[in-house]
Amino acid sequence: MQVERFESALWQTSSLLLVADGEAIAIDPGISRQEVERLTAHADELGARVTHVLATHADWDHVCGIGAFPEAVAAMGPLTADAVASGGPAELIARRASEHGLDIVGEPRVDRRLAAGLAHDVGPFIVETTALAGHTPYGLGYRVRSLDVLVVGDHLSSVEFPFVSDTAAYRFTLAGLIDLLRHDPPGLVVPGHGPPLSAGQALEIAEADLSYLRALRDAVGGALATAGDREQAREAGLVVEPPRPAETTGAHAANVDTQLEELRAA
Ligand SMILES: [Zn+2]
Repeated sequence: MQVERFESALWQTSSLLLVADGEAIAIDPGISRQEVERLTAHADELGARVTHVLATHADWDHVCGIGAFPEAVAAMGPLTADAVASGGPAELIARRASEHGLDIVGEPRVDRRLAAGLAHDVGPFIVETTALAGHTPYGLGYRVRSLDVLVVGDHLSSVEFPFVSDTAAYRFTLAGLIDLLRHDPPGLVVPGHGPPLSAGQALEIAEADLSYLRALRDAVGGALATAGDREQAREAGLVVEPPRPAETTGAHAANVDTQLEELRAA
């Protein structure tokens, strides 16, 4: 029984292969055809067939490899499933593939929906799911206790700061992860981008990220309370430093705008 991590050349995106008893689960396999083939070849070497593919969330870089596994069961959270079924990710994959010069196999699909907060039988493993909203509304974390691993999608990355779709949901997610990492820590935490982490390292990131989002809320909320002006509130938010750099530009300003919109809709 083993877990192997693969890393894409794009954004250090994580893909996982969980192997037991001649069967394998791929999580967020990606990104290019060649990168997905590495993962399949490794499963072959271990004498395992990829019977299931899991996706943590519907962002294109996490669902673009599903099409390479037509025989496997593609499983994900219900909201991610809705997003994939809408065809949005498929369109974006086609656009991003041409922008980044990537060869991507097929389109994502949904075969099975995994409700959050339950332990599911997935191939040879029991996979516990946890709702992780904040980066997207529909993230799902996967915990496999037999491998002592927790997969958290685009949260807790050491190479990015939070890219936020909902600041309050993101703070709740971080608070929940902090509790889990303190009281029920897994041996290995695998974020969607960047290296895998010990529970201690993940906890440090979670606390730094939560401080950042709290400071962002305080700055924007404080400026609105005193000046009452959207532009001043925006300026105050922009002063808050993200806890670490990221390759993606504009994400901090986007977080400020999201925070501002939540506190005072335009
Ligand atoms: Zn991502």
